[in-house]
Amino acid sequence: MTASTVVEPVAGFHGLGLSQTILDAVTKAGYKKPSSIQKAFIPRVLAGSDVMGQAQTGTGKTAAYLLPYFERWQPSADRDPTALILVPTRELATQVCEEAAKLAPHDRIRVLPIYGGKRMDGQVQALRKGIDLVVGTPGRILDHLSRSTLVFHKVQYLVLDEADRMFDLGFRDDIRRILKQCPDARQTMLLSATMPPDVLNLAKRYMRKPIVHIQIAPKKVTVEKIRQSYITVDKENKYDALLRVIEREQPRQCIIFCERKIGAHRIYTKLCGERKRVAAMHGDLEQNQRERIMKAFKEGKIVYLVATDVVGRGIDVMGISHIINFDLPMDPENYVHRIGRTGRMGKDGVAISLVEPEEGKELTRIEDFINKLITEEQLPDFEAFIPRVKVEQEPKDVKPVYGQRSRRYSQRL
Ligand code: ADP
Ligand code: MG
Repeated sequence: MTASTVVEPVAGFHGLGLSQTILDAVTKAGYKKPSSIQKAFIPRVLAGSDVMGQAQTGTGKTAAYLLPYFERWQPSADRDPTALILVPTRELATQVCEEAAKLAPHDRIRVLPIYGGKRMDGQVQALRKGIDLVVGTPGRILDHLSRSTLVFHKVQYLVLDEADRMFDLGFRDDIRRILKQCPDARQTMLLSATMPPDVLNLAKRYMRKPIVHIQIAPKKVTVEKIRQSYITVDKENKYDALLRVIEREQPRQCIIFCERKIGAHRIYTKLCGERKRVAAMHGDLEQNQRERIMKAFKEGKIVYLVATDVVGRGIDVMGISHIINFDLPMDPENYVHRIGRTGRMGKDGVAISLVEPEEGKELTRIEDFINKLITEEQLPDFEAFIPRVKVEQEPKDVKPVYGQRSRRYSQRL
């Protein structure tokens, strides 16, 4: 049975059932008002229910599941973790640990990220010392489970962040195997901005009934503050269109999403020739490169991040003003998550997609999914920024031939 939820008004974080110690930690983190999902989610979790929390991107779902855990936390001499948070990517594991460090009421709570690309022995040593909360990706967690360097028999508090992703085909078996190792008598929480009904039904098998399903603004899949538009452009002119868009928009920071690693690498290499502060982010990079790039991006040192969906989910970077879909994502869900890297916690954002003429169907599927029409805009006018980049004046009566122009334009930027 699924119980629906009414959100009661509360002043600040008081009234959610959090103790003064946790409220002090929240104040120290600088959070003044709980978001809608935090208001609805925290009391239900504290009441002991298994909860599915669905709320738009950038609305504070991480704190919604971390705070009740901190509230519950008890000192123990035990070395085995009592809480587990599963996430789809290494970068998200790091970020959740950072949010945990920000919100933890004291430093006795031991939190450890566990993900691949790192030496096992370092992680094993940390685990031996004792850990309360593990935040990790499925693959590396399974490695530890198979070596018994990690055991989950004490796990009481289990969270699947980006839950629909965790239950899709790529991860489903791993998740099954991990959940088998956790006690049945545990509390399970799922969070995501998207949750297809069939995935939810599957996930429910791992939860205790009655499951509380909280859905904030179910009809508004994407946040209003993100200005969404698309530009129709032939495949061969997409790179030129990208240059025009970034020249017009002058993003503070942006992610340029490509569907494949090779595409991301190609665009990154080209863009490096014309712009400073460009980096690529995809699964073929070495782990230390991935970490360096994310750190530099979070610090605002990188302006243009050309990436695959590896940073499509969960990543929270203050300075991101623009999302550009160089390629349309295959799944409408991914569109929601990608553009949700901007417009976070009430801030403004811009999302521009480059759509090939034959991709009309995909675009319509996305629009159906988000219950919203995306505005079409024209390719930014080449002349509009000629004075800024000092490209020679083109004769006005010549029809633009984008391919040729783009090459000339590219060389000059
Ligand atoms: P989501 O998981 O819903 O996409 P996050 O948990 O990543 O969102 O939170 C988005 C941003 O908002 C983070 O930078 C987080 O630190 C911040 N945040 C979370 N809760 C609050 C709050 N109540 N007030 C202000 N900022 C918050
Ligand atoms: Mg999140």
